[in-house]
Amino acid sequence: MKSEYKIELYTGIRPTGDLTIANYVGAVKPLVELQKQGVKSLVFVADIHSLTDNEPATASKFCREVVADYLALGLDPSKTNIYIQSAIAYQVSYMTLLLARHVSVAELLRVPTLKDKLRNNANPKTANALLLLYPVMMASDILLQRAKSVPVGEDQLAHMEVVRRLARDFNTKYGEIFPIPTVQQVKSLRILSLKGSRKMSKSFPEGAIFLTDDMTKVKKKIKSAETALEGKLSDSLQSHIILAKELCDDHEVHSKIDTIIKDHMDGKHVMGAFKDLLTVIVVDFLSKFQVRRAEVVRDPSLIDGILKEGASMALANAESTLDLVRSSIK
Ligand code: ATP
Ligand code: MG
Repeated sequence: MKSEYKIELYTGIRPTGDLTIANYVGAVKPLVELQKQGVKSLVFVADIHSLTDNEPATASKFCREVVADYLALGLDPSKTNIYIQSAIAYQVSYMTLLLARHVSVAELLRVPTLKDKLRNNANPKTANALLLLYPVMMASDILLQRAKSVPVGEDQLAHMEVVRRLARDFNTKYGEIFPIPTVQQVKSLRILSLKGSRKMSKSFPEGAIFLTDDMTKVKKKIKSAETALEGKLSDSLQSHIILAKELCDDHEVHSKIDTIIKDHMDGKHVMGAFKDLLTVIVVDFLSKFQVRRAEVVRDPSLIDGILKEGASMALANAESTLDLVRSSIK
């Protein structure tokens, strides 16, 4: 089993509360599409990672919620396994410590995402040390599961460099233990906020549409969204077009959108019509989602069963990797 991959595609989700439609378009939809192509994935809910900025009670609170969201958005448990990271807390923690011995504080401090965070969102004097250990724990997650491919956005590339380097160095010192994970760089779709020029995100609710929003709220939000002057294609408008097309696969609707945008570029006053169409698309998507989600949570044993199966798979993978590690380091 030495150096053999066990998981074709491996990815994590953060249980940080309600998802936005941008989270769906940027993160969940690509996963569901890979699933349709037959790619076997293992998805984990990163509750231990979210301890960096949450109390343990908060970190575990949203785990089942986010699993329900993903199932209602199309994740098929017969094709994709899901586990909660803390189901293998001992294995992850122990592996993190063993790997942390092979990375210097200086190397971790050079990781660009950490530098960015310390500059913009976190104060180095008060931020806790889990922030520093993030790439090491990420290595532990990936290497324990023997994952082949890890889809990451640009912001995670530097972390994957640390992961790969750690795996190689560990192998050089103790023998061929870890198969080296490969990076699958994903095209990053960036949906903009309905207000201002930043990206849509959970932490800026005024400009975001949440999967849980009721339809009156959605209509109001789209009505007051920024678009563009006649004849102009602003970043906001471009982003709304992408959003509309990503949420609805119907070619006829796509042509309708193209016609409206052509009229707009010809100087016609059609932004009202565009917003009406966007509203119909979003409302249709959300109402179907909300019905499916209600079905998913109706029987709690459904999620229990899925998580139990996922945990036992993750535990088996982690334990067999740890057996190799234990026998190699002694
Ligand atoms: P937060 O404000 O807490 O950072 P967020 O909405 O930015 O929340 P994340 O948890 O940071 O969401 O990211 C979850 C996933 O959603 C990531 O894969 C990320 O690439 C994707 N994502 C987040 N925002 C967008 C966006 N505006 N457009 C496309 N994808 C997005
Ligand atoms: Mg974010």
